[in-house]
Amino acid sequence: MVASKLSAMSLLLRSSQIHSVGCYTTSAIPSGAKVVEYAGRKITAAQGDELYEGLEITYLFGLEDGKHVIDGNGMAAFINHSCDPNCETDEIDGRVWIISAREIAAGEELTYDYNLYDGEAPDEAPCSCGAKNCRGSMFAPEEIKRLKKLSRKQPAKLAS
Ligand SMILES: [Zn+2]
Repeated sequence: MVASKLSAMSLLLRSSQIHSVGCYTTSAIPSGAKVVEYAGRKITAAQGDELYEGLEITYLFGLEDGKHVIDGNGMAAFINHSCDPNCETDEIDGRVWIISAREIAAGEELTYDYNLYDGEAPDEAPCSCGAKNCRGSMFAPEEIKRLKKLSRKQPAKLAS
């Protein structure tokens, strides 16, 4: 895969139909391009939990080691989730890149699938991306299954 890096100048933030603010491209992007780095401070997952305790919105990106997160402070932190995304993410040497999953036209909002994990309830991260295949949640499909099982077990626990 030849990944050409786009100029950050071709991205802009403006209000989004999906959620608050979104990240848009002003130029066409070929498939498989490194669009933008998920830039930010690398901290431990515990530090991340502390930092955003009680807040609804976080800008944390979990790294593959399961122990560290990136506290996003760049354009990529504003990219919204979609169940039918035009980008995917890839961790390369400890850095996270947003990579175009298909050709993207100028003016399109960039999205990727958050595939969230470590939730507490299935309805904790609802999705309203509007995609035909929207699964109604930003959790990863396996995580939704785990959380649903968990929430079925809880009433039994309370009764005992
Ligand atoms: Zn969705």
